[in-house]
Amino acid sequence: MFGPPGAGKGTQSQNIASKFNLHQVSTGDLLRKEVENNTKIGKEIEKNISKGNFASDDIVNELLQKLIKDNSYKNRIIFDGYPRNINQAESLEKIIKTENQSINHIFFLNVSREIIEKRILGRVICQKCNVVLNNFYNKQEVDDHPCGSQYLFKRSDDNLETIINRYDTYMKKTKPVLDFYKTKSEFHEIDASMKIDEITAKIQEIIEV
Ligand code: AMP
Repeated sequence: MFGPPGAGKGTQSQNIASKFNLHQVSTGDLLRKEVENNTKIGKEIEKNISKGNFASDDIVNELLQKLIKDNSYKNRIIFDGYPRNINQAESLEKIIKTENQSINHIFFLNVSREIIEKRILGRVICQKCNVVLNNFYNKQEVDDHPCGSQYLFKRSDDNLETIINRYDTYMKKTKPVLDFYKTKSEFHEIDASMKIDEITAKIQEIIEV
């Protein structure tokens, strides 16, 4: 699942994972977990994430290898936020080949910069159930969230300054990966300015063909 920060990769990955019994792997979530658990690599990761820079490829590739090699996830992974640069894309190609797996679909959630800012600045996430809500778009849902509003938090990198750097990093590093995948028949560009359910339906339609 590709797209600029705030395109809805996480939300769509969650929706599709539950519809098709797949396993969502968000590198952002994996990295944030390392920070939260204060692990050896957590401090280095934090420095990068808080500035809107990428975590190192070695760290990301290692975290992912374990999951890709796990037989219970074989050919059932949705990569959310990975690969994010050419080096990671090459590493992914190698490992899936070795593990005898394949990439069936590549979705690019395309959305304008103005929409992204509003989505990211309003975004809140539930610590308990991981659902992503938005203070601007669904205030009522935020107020009525069944886990309780005390569990809703804002990501520390969801501020205007960091968003600008995250977007620039995306354009510089991730856009070339997209240009590479664009030539493949499994590539699908989706208008991600639509409503969440509409986007999910569009992706579902493509998967079901
Ligand atoms: P996300 O949750 O996908 O928005 O990612 C949040 C942050 O985690 C990014 O801004 C990066 O700092 C870091 N990150 C996530 N995925 C990767 C990746 N594949 N490679 C390097 N850094 C990543």
